[in-house]
Amino acid sequence: MNLKGLRKPVGPHSNCSHLARRLWDSRYVSDLEELRDRMRAFTLARDWEKFHDPKSLLLALVGEVGELSELFQWLPADQARELTQTDSLKTRVSEELSDVLLYLVRLADVMDIDLANAARRKMDLSESRFAAENFRGVAPEKK
Ligand SMILES: [Mg+2]
Repeated sequence: MNLKGLRKPVGPHSNCSHLARRLWDSRYVSDLEELRDRMRAFTLARDWEKFHDPKSLLLALVGEVGELSELFQWLPADQARELTQTDSLKTRVSEELSDVLLYLVRLADVMDIDLANAARRKMDLSESRFAAENFRGVAPEKK
């Protein structure tokens, strides 16, 4: 396992064991980097960089979110929850979620955004803003 380059824990996770934090970081960051690199290679091999401007990638991402939404369209919420446990819907949902993730990773890459770090910062903010002791079982108010 490569632990090189991992950051010192800060924020709400700073009380986690240092080793647990390192293991979490190394697993997920390397997964996103692997996907980013495979998307780069896939795009280069097909000479598709010219199509991968931020606007086009965003529209592709939204299109995939639409395909994901379509799987649940018109289903009552409790029926949708039950159906997600069936193999056929779970397979389709996993395919569409993957499309969403891949376009998201590619969009972040062409915009030179470190997605794992950006998401980590957002989680730090959310954990501070919605302290568990104040929000357990309570939906945040819309502003
Ligand atoms: Mg799709």
